[in-house]
Amino acid sequence: MNEHELLRLIDFCKKGNPYNESITLVGATKMVDVQTINKAVSLGLTTVAENRVQEFREKYDLIKDANHHFIGHLQSNKVKYLVGKVKLIHSVDSFSLAQVISEKAQKLGISQEILIEVNVGGELSKSGFSLENVELELEKIVKLPSLRISGLMAMLPKTDDQQLKISLCKEMRALFDKLKEKYINFTHLSMGMSEDYEIAVSHGSNMIRIGSLIFGKRNYGGN
Ligand SMILES: *Cc1c(COP(=O)(O)O)cnc(C)c1O
Repeated sequence: MNEHELLRLIDFCKKGNPYNESITLVGATKMVDVQTINKAVSLGLTTVAENRVQEFREKYDLIKDANHHFIGHLQSNKVKYLVGKVKLIHSVDSFSLAQVISEKAQKLGISQEILIEVNVGGELSKSGFSLENVELELEKIVKLPSLRISGLMAMLPKTDDQQLKISLCKEMRALFDKLKEKYINFTHLSMGMSEDYEIAVSHGSNMIRIGSLIFGKRNYGGN
């Protein structure tokens, strides 16, 4: 683990974004061992996130004193392992998934916080609602019980074209601002990873998901 980089990122987040919002640093901990994760938490990382349910289940009980988020593609049949345990599910990418989360949360008598994932780059390889459909779908999702929809999540395309990234960030922020007027719980715009968090934050992200900068490069094998 790069402790220096972790502390630098914690400091970076304290400065906030141009909208005067505080920034949440989410440590993306896939393929990182529990001991290392706990070390990061002891150094001040307050939120950790897995992107595979199996890995989450293996580590959850062994990581105390941190908020747990889920950031990966989620199948409906695995929802039961997350609801009530994770503070925030970033990756709600269909109405039917929202429905299953809602049902499970209702059964547990809790409210599950979620974000709506937007496929901002329109990439075939990525999940998420399209920019065109997201508002209509959201209107349906907000009617489901036992959910707290607190904002949007997006993954920027892998590209060296910084201008493209900037314009996609601006689109996401504009959408977020528009929806924020309608939905009072909208507070999080989860956007930006190791290679693009600076662009994301300077264009309105207030939640960044950082893995390799803190924990080193790993072989992800996709999402
Ligand atoms: C792994 C992962 C990240 C972090 O990516 P890095 O490039 O390692 O910072 C962010 N979001 C999701 C959904 C991820 O799976």
